[in-house]
Amino acid sequence: MSSVKICLALVFALLLSARAVAAEPPLSLVRGEATQGGLVVFQLADGFSASRDGSLLPVTPRGFLVIGFHRDDTAPVILTLTDASGQTSDYVITPSIRDYDVQRIDGLNKKFVTPPDETIAQIKKDRADVIKARAMFSLLNDAVHNGFDWPSPGRITGIYGSQRILNGKPRQPHYGIDIAAAEGTPVTASADGVISMASDLYFTGGTIIIDHGYYLNSTYSHLKTMTVTEGDTVSRGQVIGTVGSTGRSTGPHLDWRINWGTKRLDPMLLSRSFKISVPKKRPEF
Ligand SMILES: [Zn+2]
Repeated sequence: MSSVKICLALVFALLLSARAVAAEPPLSLVRGEATQGGLVVFQLADGFSASRDGSLLPVTPRGFLVIGFHRDDTAPVILTLTDASGQTSDYVITPSIRDYDVQRIDGLNKKFVTPPDETIAQIKKDRADVIKARAMFSLLNDAVHNGFDWPSPGRITGIYGSQRILNGKPRQPHYGIDIAAAEGTPVTASADGVISMASDLYFTGGTIIIDHGYYLNSTYSHLKTMTVTEGDTVSRGQVIGTVGSTGRSTGPHLDWRINWGTKRLDPMLLSRSFKISVPKKRPEF
């Protein structure tokens, strides 16, 4: 290319970027999909604030904000943007509806359906501890800015959203991704964060919860070992423990979950390093 052409190309590039700045929308999509279990990451233009139902939404230093949808959410989210002069505009974000794998199993022995009475107190305490660990809000922002990494190699044996109806009673849907791997396989943090839980629970065995900021957190269950403790700071890719079969589990696997506040998200939709194919076979765990 001659130097004149290069020069013209440069002028065009400058013109285009100038126009892009002038026409910059107040809200632009960074990544993600508005769907059940999805997390949408938006960038808010300088000088704007965003609110939902009258509450201001937290925005990262890069101007990113996130909206997550639960497994069964159908209601649209209305974001109200306000510019420096106080002018407002509404954005409606409607989640698309998904189909989940629902399995009915009848004629089961009652002891497999209901946990024994003596474990009820521990189950209640575990649940309260998990809710507390997931209620953290911090200004950590690696996950918002960069997404999540896959935490362990292995074969997918359970997917988000699937549900079993045992003896006519619908069980809680499965909110995690089950990854079957050999016991002792290293498990790594999906993004930078702070450990908000590292304990042994009745159902999920060795359980780690990482706070990633802006109400995002990830959970790793059935761990054989845990190499971090509550309050530790971890980096994306850092080993936090190993795959096991602790708690109520039928074989070594990692159950990996991601929450946005109380909304359960589908880790498969959020992973930036998803490389494993889903087998046609039904989940084993
Ligand atoms: Zn699971």
